Amino acid sequence: MPLYDYRCPRCQEVFELLVSASTKPRCPHCGGRKLERLMSAPAAPGRSAQIIKQARRRAAQEGHFSHYAPHERPRR
Ligand SMILES: [Zn+2]
Repeated sequence: MPLYDYRCPRCQEVFELLVSASTKPRCPHCGGRKLERLMSAPAAPGRSAQIIKQARRRAAQEGHFSHYAPHERPRR
């Protein structure tokens, strides 16, 4: 069964769902049925794509420390 990332427009939750042809996805948080399917690269599992997205957002907020090794980065 394909594993897709969905976002619920009602509660803004992002989650993964296994979707078969016969089941309609529902938000596990509010039960909403109007879900947006997020497009991710087929090679990358949705979870790691989400982690990469979060890491990039955090890096953009904190500045560009991507040229440092993790233990060399300043602690907050
Ligand atoms: Zn929801």
